[in-house]
Amino acid sequence: MTSEERSENTRVRLQTDWTKGNWGTGIFLVCAHLAAIAALFFWSWPAVITAIVLYWVGGSLGIGMGYHRLLTHRGYKVPKIVEYFLVTCGTMALEGGPIQWVVTHRIHHAHTDRPGDPHTPRDGGWWAHIGWILWGTAQNHTPATIAHYAPDVMNDPYYRWLSRRYYVPLLVVGVLLFIFGGWSVLLWGVFLRLTLALHSTWLVNSATHLWGRTRFETGDDSRNSWWVALLTFGEGWHNNHHAYPTSAQHGLRWYEIDLNWLGIRALQFLGLAHGVKRVRFNRVSSAWQPVAARVKSEHR
Ligand SMILES: [Zn+2]
Ligand SMILES: [Zn+2]
Repeated sequence: MTSEERSENTRVRLQTDWTKGNWGTGIFLVCAHLAAIAALFFWSWPAVITAIVLYWVGGSLGIGMGYHRLLTHRGYKVPKIVEYFLVTCGTMALEGGPIQWVVTHRIHHAHTDRPGDPHTPRDGGWWAHIGWILWGTAQNHTPATIAHYAPDVMNDPYYRWLSRRYYVPLLVVGVLLFIFGGWSVLLWGVFLRLTLALHSTWLVNSATHLWGRTRFETGDDSRNSWWVALLTFGEGWHNNHHAYPTSAQHGLRWYEIDLNWLGIRALQFLGLAHGVKRVRFNRVSSAWQPVAARVKSEHR
């Protein structure tokens, strides 16, 4: 990082007006945390199982396989109906609509740990974790920014609707959980699960740009973190990911547990995923190399 970039980062932090936060988001997050604590006093097996299932639906099917590896990086292809299903699962994590998420994340890859990165720990660890959500303007994208970073997502009418109404699917699920399961299932399935899931995703922005091992020289601070990978179904192999962003596989060694990759493999096995991009270690050249994506017709 040049001294010019460093002073730019400092300027961004110093210019943040801490009195002008995203109040709606802040109040919701405080309530979600309080409800998560309350959930501990309403323990029941159906509630715990609901929370685990929805943690997987939102975190793995939705954010990891849907928003991130499929929509943002186009690491693999699925029929449109499957894509819509995975992306709709992503709204269970309440991390905003697909357009805004994809734009923010593509900006992160375009400016990783440099000025313009919406959530680099170089602006502070807490800033990268939650500060940018509460005080940042990084998610208020202009139409021009959206058109530049995510024309593919923007041109889809369903994604335009879902991006405006991203809270609707979770609202419906929440009402159903309350009707059929009562307070216990609602508190665990929505609030405790959601709070843990949000922190897990935020750890990818904070912890995996601070702590862990580096396999590839990526020119940024990205790291491979096994414990963040466990919490996020494989998103913690973040140095691998920054080295090969379009690879649908993030855990590259057998011991790098990557459940999102297993999910994509399962879709492939069912004949639903094709054009899967990945990298493999070439023993001859002793280097990691992208493997040409196999198209569906070759696969059959
Ligand atoms: Zn990153
Ligand atoms: Zn990414």
